[in-house]
Amino acid sequence: MQTQTSPNLVGASRAEIAALVGDLDPRPYRAAQVYRWVARRLAGSLDEMTNLPKSLRESLARSVVIRDPEIVEVRRGDEGTAKFALAHSDGAVVEAVAMPMEGHTTLCLSSQAGCAVGCVFCVTGILGAGRNLSGGEIFGQYRAIMRHQGLVGAPVNVVFMGMGEPLLNLPGVTRAVELLSETVSPRRITVSTSGIVPGLAKLAALDRRPKLAVSLNATTQEQRERLMPIAARWPLDELLAALRAFPLERGRRITFEYVMMAGVNDTLEDARRLPRLLRGIPCKVNLIPLNPDARYLAGLAAPDEETISAFAGVLAAAHVNVTVRWSKGRDVAAACGQLRGQVIGERAAP
Ligand code: SF4
Repeated sequence: MQTQTSPNLVGASRAEIAALVGDLDPRPYRAAQVYRWVARRLAGSLDEMTNLPKSLRESLARSVVIRDPEIVEVRRGDEGTAKFALAHSDGAVVEAVAMPMEGHTTLCLSSQAGCAVGCVFCVTGILGAGRNLSGGEIFGQYRAIMRHQGLVGAPVNVVFMGMGEPLLNLPGVTRAVELLSETVSPRRITVSTSGIVPGLAKLAALDRRPKLAVSLNATTQEQRERLMPIAARWPLDELLAALRAFPLERGRRITFEYVMMAGVNDTLEDARRLPRLLRGIPCKVNLIPLNPDARYLAGLAAPDEETISAFAGVLAAAHVNVTVRWSKGRDVAAACGQLRGQVIGERAAP
């Protein structure tokens, strides 16, 4: 009989599924079928596994579960963006976002139920630390949203830019990337870090390496420490040296995210320093005007458009590949830096 502690097939590796299924049917192709249903076809129940004999499905139903985090709320924004609150069996709630783009959907997943990094421009960071999510829990966010949105089989990009610092949860994130790679090319998966230097080497060692994004946000060590306390532990020069050594597949570039804050990091001096810092790193820069939050980010605002354009102009003139990313989903607090995992307590919003 299934119990709360019955093994969950969501998040299980091929070998783990082979061991679980092998006890009931030793033929290897049966385990391969089960793995395909869970990891590739994103089946939500054993009943969907129609090419398995009913007797095997019944035996499996007595010993394993297929459990994704439960979608407890969906908020839809004007541009088709959907923000999901997903609850785990221990009550931890995380948020993830689906954003329709041209020709595909981008899913932004969370790697932790909070964040200890404490960036001053990020609501998740202001709200504090939360536990690591397992690979199965992260993969479960993807499965739950793909099914809910009718996206199974459709092209998606996955970014680890939701709640949490992915490189502080490498076991969970690497397992999730492994499972995601069954249906999403690693070229379409991006792990975004605040700059956990030792984690970069571990990410670089993965067989199927996702793309890398780095949340930079400053052009001097002093400024970065003020905005991102983690910079005191892993200083800017160490981070840039690690990025220069990071192995990049042909044609790949590192994305630098730069959240622009009026009067904080938006001067032309900053703009002139940035290309010098990034010299020698194949990269592009995403300028992200701050998503304001009167409650949690009081005193911080986005620069005006003229300032942002002038900043971008300096980068372009220095031959830096630069884009300005106006975040989607601001109207439902689904934009960059706005995820908090507390939707349940804030249902007042329409
Ligand atoms: S920006 Fe990322 S690393 Fe920084 S506090 Fe927010 S979730 Fe954590």
